[in-house]
Amino acid sequence: MIDYKGVLNTIYQEIIQETDKGEIASYIPELANVDKNTFGIHLQLVSGDAFSVGDSEKKFSIQSISKVLTLALALSHVGSEIWNRIDVEPSGNPFNHLALLEMEKGIPRNPLINSGAIVIADILLSVLEHPKEDFLDFVRELTGDYSIDYNYTVADSEMQTGFNNFAAANLLKSFDNLHNDVSDVLDFYFHQCSLEMSCAQLTRAFYTFADQGNNIKGKTRLKKSQIKRINAIMLTCGFYDEAGEFAFEVGLPGKSGVGGGIVALLPNEFVISVWAPGLNERGNSKLGMEALEKFTTLTNQSIF
Ligand code: GLN
Repeated sequence: MIDYKGVLNTIYQEIIQETDKGEIASYIPELANVDKNTFGIHLQLVSGDAFSVGDSEKKFSIQSISKVLTLALALSHVGSEIWNRIDVEPSGNPFNHLALLEMEKGIPRNPLINSGAIVIADILLSVLEHPKEDFLDFVRELTGDYSIDYNYTVADSEMQTGFNNFAAANLLKSFDNLHNDVSDVLDFYFHQCSLEMSCAQLTRAFYTFADQGNNIKGKTRLKKSQIKRINAIMLTCGFYDEAGEFAFEVGLPGKSGVGGGIVALLPNEFVISVWAPGLNERGNSKLGMEALEKFTTLTNQSIF
C-alpha cells in the first residue's frame, strides 16, 4: 500500500518553499484578489480512502474545469450528435485563440477550449428547460453536495470584460454554429465558469470519470463509453497548448482552470485535485502542475 499521506506531506513541504509561484489571472478582475500563497491537495481513492493537505477545503473559481462537466451533461442528453459541431483534436493553441476557429469555418477544435465550450453551452441552452439551475443540479448530484453554487460577482465580472469570448461567440454565430442568442449563451458560459468548489468538492465531482460513470454515491448518469471518451479528451486537450507537457510530466487525464485549480485522475484508481492560484505563461497552475508531476513520480501511478 502506498503511503499517500506521506507523499502529500512531502509534496506540500517542497511546494510551499518555491519562490516563483506564477501569476494570478488578472484579466478577470474579480479573480485578481486571490492570495498567491494558498495551496491545497485532495486525493480520493476509488477504493474509498481520502487524503488531503493544505487549503483543501477552501473554495476557488473552477473556471475552465467546468467545461468537462458541461460536456458530460451535454453528452448525457444528445450523445454523439455533439461531434457534428465540435472536433476532438488538440488545438496546440491558447484556450482563447480565435484564428483557428475562423480558418476551420466555425468548428472548434475540441470542447475544452473556449469556443468549443461555448458551443456546448449553446447545446445545453437548447435542451435544458432551466439551463443554469439544471446544470447546477447536475453538478450537485454528481458531487453529492448541495452547497455548491455559482459566484455571481465573478460571472458578472466576466460578462463586463469577456470581449474575447464575445468575439468567439459572434464568430461561431457567423458560421451558423450557435443557435441561441449570443448574450444568453455567454451568460450561461460565464456562470458555469464561476462555479466555486474546494479541492475536496472538485475531487468528488470528478469521481464519476474515475469510476466508470458511477458518482461518489454510486449513482450512474454517464455510460462507460462516454467516460472513456471524456477522459481521452482531457488527456489530449485539457491543458490547451500545454497538453503534451502535462501528459509528458504527469501522465494523467486532467483539466485546468485559470482560477489555479487542476483535477486529474487515474481510471479505476483515484481522482486528485490541486489548487495553487499562480499560473504559468500558458494559463495553467504553475505549482499545481509541479505538484502533480511529483505525485505521479513518487507514487509511480500514471496511465503510462
Ligand atoms: N472563464 C475563462 C474564460 O473564458 C475560462 C478560461 C480558463 O479557465 N482557461 O476566459
